[in-house]
Amino acid sequence: MGKKVTIDHELCVGDAICVDIAPDVFEMGDDGLAHVKEGMECAGDRDDVQEAAEQCPGGAILIEDSDEC
Ligand code: SF4
Repeated sequence: MGKKVTIDHELCVGDAICVDIAPDVFEMGDDGLAHVKEGMECAGDRDDVQEAAEQCPGGAILIEDSDEC
């Protein structure tokens, strides 16, 4: 079982810190909020993704065990 990463858009404040830390996993959308790039949903076990979750001021990056990963 791997770790899935998702973003709660109710909590994201759009400061792009996650994109700075892990630009191959996160991107900013036209809505001004961060999104997990297509195909990167299972990157939750990466150190830089966990670092982004710790640095995220909104606590918007969620990492959870998932059978999908
Ligand atoms: S670090 Fe958190 S609040 Fe900032 S853009 Fe990324 S998900 Fe949104």
